[in-house]
Amino acid sequence: MQQIVELGEWRDYARNARREGKSIGLVPTMGALHEGHAALFRRARAENDVVIGTIFVNARQFNNAEDLARYPRTLEADVDLASSCGVDALITPTAAAMWPNATATTVHVERLGDVFEGTGRPGHFDGVTSVVAKLFILNGACRAYFGEKDFQQLVIVQTMVRDLALEVAVIGCDIVRDDDGLAFSSRNVQLTPEGRTTALGLSRSIRAACAGARTASEQRLLMVATLEEAGVNVEYADVVDPVTLTSSRDDESGRRRALVAGVVDGVRLIDNGPVQIVGGEHAARN
Ligand code: AMP
Repeated sequence: MQQIVELGEWRDYARNARREGKSIGLVPTMGALHEGHAALFRRARAENDVVIGTIFVNARQFNNAEDLARYPRTLEADVDLASSCGVDALITPTAAAMWPNATATTVHVERLGDVFEGTGRPGHFDGVTSVVAKLFILNGACRAYFGEKDFQQLVIVQTMVRDLALEVAVIGCDIVRDDDGLAFSSRNVQLTPEGRTTALGLSRSIRAACAGARTASEQRLLMVATLEEAGVNVEYADVVDPVTLTSSRDDESGRRRALVAGVVDGVRLIDNGPVQIVGGEHAARN
C-alpha cells in the first residue's frame, strides 16, 4: 500500500488509474479506523480495480476545540488495517494543504444540514460537505463508499453530488455492529465500561422500533422509553423520510428511517435503522 500526503500526487495517482481504464473506489474517513471502516474498504475492494482511502480529521466539521483535540488519532494502526483490507493508496493530507489560510469557500446544502446532527452543531455539515466536495474533486470520478451509520451525512452527500453533478456514485453501506449490538464508532473508546453498557440503549431502541409496525409517534415514544431506561441522555429520537429527512406524521404509512442520538459519559452517540410505520385511526385526526 502506498501512502500519499501531497494533494497533487494523489490527483495524479487517480488520474493515471482512470487513464488505464481502472475503476476507483474511494473511502473517506477521519481515521481511528475500526470494523465499520474495514467493511467500507472491503466492499470498495470487491467492486473496484483501485481502492483509495483517505484519513483527514477535518477541523471545519468540529464545533469545539476540545472535541477536536479529543478525537482519537491512531495512524500506525490505521495504516495496518487499511493495508490488510487491500487498500492501494492511503491519502493522509495535512490540514495546511487542505485548508490553506483564508479558505473562503463553503459548500452548503440547504435545510438537510440544519436538523438533527446539525441542530446542536451549527456549521457541522458545511464542514462535512466542504471537505467531501474537495476530496471528490481531488480524486475525480469514482465510486465513494459511506456508512449508513451517519445516515444524515449520507443523505446530504448524495444530495450534494446530485445538485453539483459531481462524477461520483455515492454508495451507502450497512452499519457494522459489535457483538453486543453497539455500532462501531471511533468515539466508543471514550466510553467507560459502565458507559458502554448504557450505550447499548441506542441499538436496543432501534431494534425495538424495527421489530414492529406502529404509528410514527408510537415508534418515537418506544425509542425514547428504551433510551431513558438504559440511562442515555436523549438528544433526539425520530422517524423520518429517508430522502428528505422530514419527520413522519401519524397518518403516514411505509418504510422510514429511525434516528436516535444521545449522550453517555459525555460522549455523543448516534444510531439508526429502517422502520415501518402505519397510519393509525386515531392519528388521522392529528
Ligand atoms: P468517520 O471516520 O467517522 O468519519 O467515518 C468514515 C466513514 O465510515 C463514514 O462514511 C461513516 O459512516 C463510516 N462508518 C463509521 N462507523 C461505521 C459503522 N459502524 N458501520 C458502517 N460504516 C461506518
